[in-house]
Amino acid sequence: MAGIAFLLGLFVGSFLNVCIWRLPREEQVVRGRSRCPACGQTIRWHDNIPIASFLWLRGRCRACRAPIHWRYPAVELLTGLALAAVALRWGVSGPGLVYAVLLCALIVASFIDAAEQIIPDVITRPGLGLAIAASAAWPVVHGVAGRLEAVGQSLLGAAVGSGAIWLMGLIGRWLFKKEAMGGGDVKLMAMLGALLGWPRILLTFLLAPMLGSLVGIPMKLRRGDELIPYGPFLSLAAVIALWWGDGLIAWYVRQLGGF
Ligand SMILES: [Zn+2]
Repeated sequence: MAGIAFLLGLFVGSFLNVCIWRLPREEQVVRGRSRCPACGQTIRWHDNIPIASFLWLRGRCRACRAPIHWRYPAVELLTGLALAAVALRWGVSGPGLVYAVLLCALIVASFIDAAEQIIPDVITRPGLGLAIAASAAWPVVHGVAGRLEAVGQSLLGAAVGSGAIWLMGLIGRWLFKKEAMGGGDVKLMAMLGALLGWPRILLTFLLAPMLGSLVGIPMKLRRGDELIPYGPFLSLAAVIALWWGDGLIAWYVRQLGGF
């Protein structure tokens, strides 16, 4: 099953690459053949096979020999691994489908944020709606049995997630007298909170700056005062919270009980 999910993920990843390139440019994602960004040549289907074509073409466009960005095979591989990991953990189930869609959305949002410093609303707005709908459809994602209770947890999670990061942005603006947190991050946290619930979105909120400082400090030293996109760190923190959050929170609560 994980193998099938991996193969499917490679092809899904190929579509996510199209989204990463076209969404910030407000181009259609479903219409229009893929083209080489350097020479505009339409890419033939046999040169568009995930990973394999990149290796076969030795990372260059067949027409103009321009290097193909490493992001293309990386996103395909990452999506394959993500869907395989979801299949191993949740199998073919409602929650499995929900988390597969979530990981795809996070991959697209993270790569766009890293390249363009924006998280398009076209991901996070429908994402928030889908997260609330998924909570009603599969209350088990919030660890409860009732649909109404699950929707309540979902709305609370969205409010806590977006509220926490909004407040952090407000404090950051007051301290540093400049924009610290974009509106895209607030909407991303609303979407994530709606699916993770308030305890795990708070964990996400706390983990993200730790992950950010691991990468951000060396990047800051190398590139100076450039704005570091926060979306990828929020996304990675959310994935950690989704996979291990319940265990981490239970462990933390036990530590508190020891005092
Ligand atoms: Zn080309």
